[in-house]
Amino acid sequence: MADLSFDYYLCAMSKALIEDLSFLTEVSRQPEQEIKVSEEQNSMPGQKKLYMESYGCQMNFADSEIVTSILQKEGFVTTSNSLEADLILLNTCAIRENAEQKIRNRLKQLNHQKAQKPGMLIGVLGCMAERLKAQLLNEERSVDMVVGPDAYRDLPRLVAEAQGGHKGVNVFLSREETYADITPVRLGSNGVSAFISIMRGCDNMCSFCVVPFTRGRERSRDPHSVVAEAKDLFEKGFREVTLLGQNVDSYKWSPETNTKLTIEKSVEASLIVNFAQLLEQVALIDPRLRVRFSTSHPKDITDEVLLTIARYPNICNYIHLPAQSGSSSVLERMNRTYSREWYLHKIKAIREIVGEDAGISTDSIAGFCGETEEEHLETLSLMEEVKYDFAYMFAYSERPGTPAAKKYTDDVPENIKKRRLQEIIQLQKEHSGYRNQLAVGKVHQVLVEGDSKRSDLFLTGRNSENKVVVFPKEGYRKGDYVDVLVEQCTTATLIGKALSHSSFAI
Ligand code: SF4
Repeated sequence: MADLSFDYYLCAMSKALIEDLSFLTEVSRQPEQEIKVSEEQNSMPGQKKLYMESYGCQMNFADSEIVTSILQKEGFVTTSNSLEADLILLNTCAIRENAEQKIRNRLKQLNHQKAQKPGMLIGVLGCMAERLKAQLLNEERSVDMVVGPDAYRDLPRLVAEAQGGHKGVNVFLSREETYADITPVRLGSNGVSAFISIMRGCDNMCSFCVVPFTRGRERSRDPHSVVAEAKDLFEKGFREVTLLGQNVDSYKWSPETNTKLTIEKSVEASLIVNFAQLLEQVALIDPRLRVRFSTSHPKDITDEVLLTIARYPNICNYIHLPAQSGSSSVLERMNRTYSREWYLHKIKAIREIVGEDAGISTDSIAGFCGETEEEHLETLSLMEEVKYDFAYMFAYSERPGTPAAKKYTDDVPENIKKRRLQEIIQLQKEHSGYRNQLAVGKVHQVLVEGDSKRSDLFLTGRNSENKVVVFPKEGYRKGDYVDVLVEQCTTATLIGKALSHSSFAI
């Protein structure tokens, strides 16, 4: 058995290389750059084949699992090879210009394939479909159907119409739809962790954001169906679920209605299930089922949620709390509806109630309309005050139709945006290193997700604070909870040795 000490791991990969590679891969991983491709499924001769590419956020990946489930009922099986497909679906993101440009380039490539296979159909789903609607059919000749995030139940009809030569569009945004009764088909799953969407849409109107226009008004999913899905996953061997929503803190459901606006107006408080209560219901399934959630909103996160996290060891000590900017004047132009002081008050509450070790990450936009150098420095000083474990960092990208595009000029020059973004990334790198160093010398409970990408002599998983931990395999395996003593770290990874399997009070 090779010497699997940390030095072995390090000499296998030079420290500096790990340092920069892993950090660069981590921080510069923009959500819209992530792509998931459908898997190869066994098929019978002549069976219809579906090839799907999913772009963007976890909500989109969760939607692709719903779409696959709907089309499987129509006899489709998925393939990982677009050349074999009868139906190609692109589930798209519209969060930034380059996300949409990527889809247009992809459609050009697929157009050639379609020329070789005339019967093949191409559909565009997701936020770009919702943003552009029928215009996309006119602009992209290879596209046969355009389907918005709330219209996936209509896919079987649209596919049948297109097979008959009729192109179709359905971009109706619903006030009720949550797909609660559809069991997702897990795509590209590691069999350990899975996403469960608990709500759809967003009632906030952040001025830079397209989501309210592409995903509609907020509606929360029946908690019984969320708990049932989590229970089913646990029984299937999954050991972690992440509850998904654009703004999970405004989750509100009642037997009478699932739209927040109506609930707040008319439903008796005792009948409402809020996010803290839903979190507790999922945590009570089994102490060996870890619970994560994303994304929180500084305006709505409550002490009740923080106290619920503190009460249940299996609810992870990690919160993604997008600040977007550290300047109250920029936050006002962004219509984020909170100030720097309010935000810092929430961070203080997290540290006090959940703990100093709690993992906190953020989203940060550099170069928003009118951003002065002083306002940029306020973002850096906010980061200095919080010291985030991790961050998604972007340069502002104006989106057509958003309040910001209508009200403000995108006047920060590109080179200034880039320089400010680099300063934010550099500072975050220092803080990620600092926060990871605090984890060294401590024992962390790690849920193993599989072999390390760099060596199958090592396993990788995450601790409760959502940090990646690698350690020598030594007979442990995927799905195990392992107590790991962390001995060293890089800015993106904790490295240690296994002490034993974790014990649970069951
Ligand atoms: S909270 Fe703001 S940034 Fe987030 S999805 Fe809603 S509108 Fe967009």
